[in-house]
Amino acid sequence: MVIYMCEYTFENGEKCKTKALAGSKYCSLHVPIDEGELLYGERLKEIKKRAFERKLERGIRYFEGVQLYEANISNMTIKNPLVFKNSKIKSLIVENSDLKGLSLFNSEIERVILVSSSIGTIWIKNSTLYGFNALDIEFENSISLKNSAVRYLMMNSVQHSEKKIKGEEEYGEKESIHGRIELSDLKKVRKIGINSHYPLLKEILDEYGVNPSKISKRHVKAKVLLIKNIEFDPNPRFKRQVRIFIRNFNGTLQFENLEVLGHVEIRGGRLKIPEFIHTLIHNNLVFRGTAFYGDTTWNLTVLPNLPAELSVKGFVILEDCSFNNPTMEEFFYRLARITWEKSGDKEKADEYYYLEMLAQRKQKMGRYMTYLPKLGISIKLPAFPFRKAKTKMKHYIHLLEGLFEWFFADLTCKYGTDWKRPILIWIAMVNFVFPTIFYITRSVTSFGVPLESFLDYEYFSVVTATTLGYGDLHPIGIGRVFASIEALFGMFMWAVFLTVFARKYMR
Ligand SMILES: [Zn+2]
Repeated sequence: MVIYMCEYTFENGEKCKTKALAGSKYCSLHVPIDEGELLYGERLKEIKKRAFERKLERGIRYFEGVQLYEANISNMTIKNPLVFKNSKIKSLIVENSDLKGLSLFNSEIERVILVSSSIGTIWIKNSTLYGFNALDIEFENSISLKNSAVRYLMMNSVQHSEKKIKGEEEYGEKESIHGRIELSDLKKVRKIGINSHYPLLKEILDEYGVNPSKISKRHVKAKVLLIKNIEFDPNPRFKRQVRIFIRNFNGTLQFENLEVLGHVEIRGGRLKIPEFIHTLIHNNLVFRGTAFYGDTTWNLTVLPNLPAELSVKGFVILEDCSFNNPTMEEFFYRLARITWEKSGDKEKADEYYYLEMLAQRKQKMGRYMTYLPKLGISIKLPAFPFRKAKTKMKHYIHLLEGLFEWFFADLTCKYGTDWKRPILIWIAMVNFVFPTIFYITRSVTSFGVPLESFLDYEYFSVVTATTLGYGDLHPIGIGRVFASIEALFGMFMWAVFLTVFARKYMR
C-alpha cells in the first residue's frame, strides 16, 4: 500500500508532513470540510477533533490552513502563542486556560468564545468573524481586532492585569500598547457591547457547553479602549438600535473616525479623558451614571474641539453623571442642551442649561468652593496661606461673585428656567415669613397701637410687598427696616417672575 502525504503547502513553501486521509490529497486537518464530508460524512467531525487534539498534545501551537468544526482549548496552560492562519473554523473556544497569546490571521471563524481565561495578547487581523465573545478574560498586554469583518463583538468582565513586566524586554514601543483594547478598521459590525447582557449570550454559551454562572461580573478595565474606523452594517433593520453599548468600563475611552448608524449608550463606569475624533452618531448619545474625569491638559486641548469633532443627530442625554472638573461638565451639558434646543424641547433644554450654569459657577468659585448645591448651602473654606495675597483677593472676589450669582440667579429662579419658584418664594415670604417677623417684634401700629391679630400683620405685609402702601398702618422701630427690605424684595421677585415667565411662554 502506498502512503500519500498531505499536499497542503504552507506560505513558506514547505509541505505538510502529515499522512493524507484515505481518498484525499490532504490530511485530516487540511482536508476542506465539504470534501471531507463527502468522504466520511458525520464521522469527519470526530476525525478532525481527534487530529487537532493530537497536535495540541504534541506541543504544536501553529496552525496554518486548517479547517475545523471546533477548536477547543480547555484547561490548558500554553507557554507559546497559539496561532491560526489562513484557517476556517466554525467555533474556537478557549476555556479555563492560561495562554501566552492568541493570534488569528486571514482566517474565517464563525464564533470565537473566550471564557474564564488569562490570555497575554489577543491579536486578530484580516479575518472574518461572526461573533467575538470574550467573557471573564484577563489580558496582560493588549487586545486588538483589526482589518476584519466582525458582526457581533462582545466583551464582558475583561480586565487588564498589570502582572509581570519583564525588564528590558517590555520597554520602548511595547510599553505604550500595554493595557490597550483596540477595535479598528472593522467592517459589517452590528453591535459592539461591553458588559452588555444580551439575551443570546446564554443560548450561545449553552450551545457550546459553557456554564455562564461561573462568569464573574466585573467592570471592564483597560488603559485605553479605542474604537476606530468602524463600518456598521447598513441594513435598516439595525438602524435604530444601540450599536455601541458600554457598561462599567474603567479607563480612557477614544472614538475615532466613526459613523454610528444608531445609538451609543454608555452606562456607569469611570471614563478618563473621553475623546471623540471625527465622530458622527446618527441617533442618541446617552450617558447614564457615568463618572467623567479628565485633567487640565485635556481641558485645554481636547475640550474646545469637542463640538466640532463630535456630532450627534439625535439627542445627547446625560443622567446621574459626575465630573471631576467643572469645565468638562459645562461642555458636556452644553452639548446636551444644544441637541435639545434643536429639537424644540425647551423644557429639557432648560434642564441642561441650568446644569451648565451650575458648572460655570463652580468654575468661577474655583477650588474655594467646589460645590454649592441648589438650595442647601455647604461651604468648605480651606485655610489660606498668608502669601499671594493678590491671588487670594481675586479668589475672594470670585467667591463673592459666585455667591451673588447663586443668590440672585439660582436661588430665585434656577437661572431663569423655573418660573414657579419666584412666585412660591414670594407667597411664602409675604404671607408667612415677613408677617411673623412683624408679629414677633410687634412693630406695626394702627394709630399708635400695636396690632393684635396675625391677619392684620399679614395684610400689612401684602400691602408693603406690592408697594401699595395705603397708609392706614405704620411700621415703627425695627419694623421700618423690615418693611423697606420687604418692599424691595416684593418688587424684585415680581420682576423675576415676569421675566422668567415671559422667557418660558412668550417666545
Ligand atoms: Zn496537512
